[in-house]
Amino acid sequence: MSNTWDDWQDAFERSYDRLPEAPVEICPSCGLGKVSLAYMVKNGSSAGSVFVWCDSCLKGIVISRAEVPEGVTPLEFGSPESGLIPNFSVVPPVGRE
Ligand SMILES: [Zn+2]
Repeated sequence: MSNTWDDWQDAFERSYDRLPEAPVEICPSCGLGKVSLAYMVKNGSSAGSVFVWCDSCLKGIVISRAEVPEGVTPLEFGSPESGLIPNFSVVPPVGRE
């Protein structure tokens, strides 16, 4: 199994194309879990961070300065709902470890 930022980026892009439908991607890190995706913003902003992770192995990526797509309800930073995102470890970006 590969475990690179690029694989996660690909999984994110395929999931993004399905929004606001839930992702169906299998985790690029463990090949077992399913990819989850959530947008998080501050103060109701229209842009924020995208969290993309696997509930099974708790790996994933975070993409910042992302525009929230139409039809997607983002989570608010610090809200109880933001606790839905687990503490996962971020796969290092390629060439920047
Ligand atoms: Zn996984």
